[in-house]
Order: sequence, then structure tokens, then C-alpha cells
Amino acid sequence: MAWLTEEEAKKTRKTDIGPPHYEQFLPPVIKKNYGNWKYHERLDAGTMVHVSNTGDKVFTVRVASPRILSTETIREMLDIADKHCDGYIRFTSRNNVEFMTPDEKKVEPLKKDLKAKGFVIGGIGPRLSNIVHTQGWVHCHGACTDASGLVKAMMDELFPYFVEKELPAKTRLALACCVNMCGAVHCSDLAVVAVHRKVPAIDHEKLKNMCEIPTTIASCPTRAISPDPAKKSVKINDEKCMYCGNCFTVCPPINIHNPEEDGVAIVVGGKIGSLRTGPKFSKLAIPFFYNEPPRWPKVVAAVKNIIDVYAKNARKHERIGEWIERIGWERFFKLTGIEFTYQHLDDFTFMRDTMRTSAAFKW
Ligand code: SF4
Ligand code: SF4
Repeated sequence: MAWLTEEEAKKTRKTDIGPPHYEQFLPPVIKKNYGNWKYHERLDAGTMVHVSNTGDKVFTVRVASPRILSTETIREMLDIADKHCDGYIRFTSRNNVEFMTPDEKKVEPLKKDLKAKGFVIGGIGPRLSNIVHTQGWVHCHGACTDASGLVKAMMDELFPYFVEKELPAKTRLALACCVNMCGAVHCSDLAVVAVHRKVPAIDHEKLKNMCEIPTTIASCPTRAISPDPAKKSVKINDEKCMYCGNCFTVCPPINIHNPEEDGVAIVVGGKIGSLRTGPKFSKLAIPFFYNEPPRWPKVVAAVKNIIDVYAKNARKHERIGEWIERIGWERFFKLTGIEFTYQHLDDFTFMRDTMRTSAAFKW
């Protein structure tokens, strides 16, 4: 059997491991001009055009999505993409849905059809785009808040910043329903991150029947879990526990949930892009709110307050993190009226130890 060259193998390779190569899903105009784009400009709050060095153009219309979509809604979107965009559609990592066409004459009919079906166009440029969020109570075992419900409540209030009102710069919001943060909480301008606040309770009877003790011990990033041979179970050093819930993921009898004490924190100032300043991690702004479903009025008011204060005070093109760095955190707390508390200080006693701790364990 002759060996294939790497290039030949790439052409013929079929695998069910990982996603198919993205290139086959690119609209022809994007494939043709890959890496050859000259500039782009915004035409309105939800439309932009990219222009290539070859003179080709691609028009993009962005619509809002609630992220968790019914098959009916997806079919409606695909019908519109078939009609105006040669069947191509793009879902961005922040849950925006983008319709693209190289034909300028198709843009207005495309927008008309989208509006007729109730899709909201916006989120481009110095505005909010969709809020990227995680699974929430309905879909993930570890959640300490809802995701879709809280995001809906926030976006109802912030909606003008998606469709028309401008902010100093593009503003990315995220929500994660636990500190494992499947959402982009650590690198968003403003994010809500749900937190457990109590050491998990262990059901020793169930644990010894359901869990592998070595795996359970290894799951703890702070090494708070150790064997409890007398009980044929494990024990937790409360001082070392940071309520992350990793142990619960591998061993459900270690229950991290506490409906009375779970809630959310708000962090600000993260970003991924390196335009003007480098990428930044988010920092704590508000340590805690209790869950108040179905509308979380205090969380929504706090998020809106930060966005409004930012809109009023930041300079043009300044992201939230850049604005805070320029004026200083002290002034940020003053302008937003957010109380500075002891929880803002990073005083985790075991930080030195745990930063150096591996997942290895000794029996
Ligand atoms: S953020 Fe946490 S609780 Fe939410 S989906 Fe991800 S792992 Fe599950
Ligand atoms: S919640 Fe996290 S830190 Fe606490 S014991 Fe479980 S894995 Fe360790």
C-alpha cells in the first residue's frame, strides 16, 4: 500500500473526531478572498460591509438570538438564508446570527424578511451584541443560577444598546452559571458569574457506592479533599474549599447546591482583543446578589447602572476595562456607587500552596 502524502490525506480523510474543517462551510466569496480583505465599514446598527482587495464585497446583517433556539426558529432562519444568502448562515461565538451576501441588492429584501419574522437587527459596532451565556438550571448539573432567564431579563432592559444607542466602544456581555465559566466571563467587558458559597455536603453512604475515591480527590483544584478510610469515603478541609463544584461534577453525592445561599457576582473589565491595549481579565465589581427569579431585578439594575455610567463617562473607543484603568478603580466605585467591601480583596489563605499543587494525590 502506498502511503499518502499529507496533502493527499487531507483531501480524502474522513473522520468523526472533532468538527469538519471549517473551510467547507465558508460562503464562496469569503473563501475566494480569504486573508485578502482590505477594510470593513458599518452601514447601520446591524449591517456592515467587508471590501476585498479584489473589489469583492460581502454584506453582513446581524440579528439577535436567545441562544437556545427552537427547531422552528432555526428553520425560519435557514429559509431566509436559502432565499437571500445562497444557503449560508453564521452563528458567532457570542450567539449572534449573521446573514451574509455578496449582492448589495439583496440586503434590503433580506432585512425586510428578517423583520417580518420578528428577528431584531443590531449589535454591530459600538453597541452591545448578544449576551453569551451558559446552560443554566435546566441544562447543567452544576448551575447556581439560571442562564437564559437572567439573560432575557438583562437584555430586555439593555435592548436599546443593541438596536440603536451607541456606547463608547463595542461592549461584550457574558453570563456563566458557575465559576467553571463555560461562558467567556473572564474576558468580557461585563459579566455575571454565578457562585456557590458553601462547602459541599457529603452523603457518605451514596459516595462509597457511586464514586471513585481517587478521581474524586484528584478533581479538587485546591486539594481540599482527602481520603476518609474509616467511612470508606472522603473528607473536605473547609478552609481550602473555594466552592468551585468540580468534585460534584465527578461525584454527585458531594452536593454543592444550596438554594438559599447560591447567587451571582458581577465582574467587569475583561476583553479578548488587543486593539489599543492588550487582553485583560475581568475583575470583581459586585461580590454577590441572591437569585431572584424570574426577573432578577437587583442584578439587572446593577448591570444597567454600570453600562449607563460607562456610556456617560468613557471616552470614544474606550472599552470598559480601559476606561477603568484610566480613571482608576477608586473612581469607578465612586461613579457607579458600588460599595467597596472586604470581598474585593484577594485574601485566599492557601493561594501560595494551591498555585503549586498538582492534581496528583497520595493515598
Ligand atoms: S458554567 Fe458551570 S454550571 Fe454553567 S454550564 Fe458551565 S459547567 Fe455547567
Ligand atoms: S467545591 Fe471545589 S474546592 Fe471545594 S472541595 Fe469541591 S472541588 Fe474542592
